[in-house]
Amino acid sequence: MASKIYPFGVGNPLDNSFKLILVAEGFTAAQKADFAALCQDLLDALLATTPFNVTRAHPGWLTVLKVFAPSANAGPRIGAGGGHSTVLGSFVDSSTNRLVVDHALLYALLNVQVVTDSAGTRKLSELVSPGDIMMGPTGAVIAVITPATANPAQGADDHVRPVDDTTYHLVATTANGLWHQVVLRGIAAALGLADEFERPDAAYASASDSNKEFLNTPNVIFRDTPPTLNSDVPAWRHVMSGTEWLAPAVVHAHPPNDLPNTAVPAAPSVAGKIEFWEGGAGYRRKSYRSAEDCLMRRAPGLGYLPARNQAVAFCPVCLVHLRSMLR
Ligand SMILES: [Zn+2]
Repeated sequence: MASKIYPFGVGNPLDNSFKLILVAEGFTAAQKADFAALCQDLLDALLATTPFNVTRAHPGWLTVLKVFAPSANAGPRIGAGGGHSTVLGSFVDSSTNRLVVDHALLYALLNVQVVTDSAGTRKLSELVSPGDIMMGPTGAVIAVITPATANPAQGADDHVRPVDDTTYHLVATTANGLWHQVVLRGIAAALGLADEFERPDAAYASASDSNKEFLNTPNVIFRDTPPTLNSDVPAWRHVMSGTEWLAPAVVHAHPPNDLPNTAVPAAPSVAGKIEFWEGGAGYRRKSYRSAEDCLMRRAPGLGYLPARNQAVAFCPVCLVHLRSMLR
């Protein structure tokens, strides 16, 4: 059974709120309280992190559920090898620190869950549908959480967007380091934000005219030529002051190679002004994000731009989008 852990005392209809579903993986029956404690840690972090901290005043947008099924063995399997049995068959791919979850097992687990709210007891599958319908303010994200690995260097994570009408929006993380950032980033993605990192594949060398029409996102824009003035980019007018709007655009072109740019500032910073940094939505060129770094730039499961090793804020454009959704 899926149990509601937030909010209490507020009758949020499940159908009309965003749903975060925390699923235990690799917790033994004896570790049930450990999973509950991690769920509480996550809630505390959500309520303390900008912009999700507005949830304290406006809890109506969110419902958090948890699902616990005990595993025979503790933690994800590390690398290859048998003799380790968990509910979702997860393992750490040691080459990329990706936490791989068996989706068929996850879907089977979700499909037998029921949840009770003011509207009665219903199947979780009636409230959380796979596919694009998971995006937006009444959408959902599934967050699979495992215990922390004993060796922090073997901590792992992942983010999987729905690719068709049968797949869920999913994040997965071991409870190592700043793991809550992986989950918050997943919520932000399900609320409509694009990834701001770049992928190594040939198909992502450059955003082309043929795919741009499908890629209108709040936080990544697509242009064949860099902007000259900030006012060349009307999509971001709402995040600029009047003076800034009329100023020359500050453009940071992708480095002169054809690799994903994995540079991040040594110290986490919050950009004060909108700039144009080439690279985003997976593409290495002809796509622009608004700041050098952002939690959406971090790339769970790809082996670069880690999401759990330092505190990373959302960029101004992402903050404005998220604030518009958290009502
Ligand atoms: Zn951003």
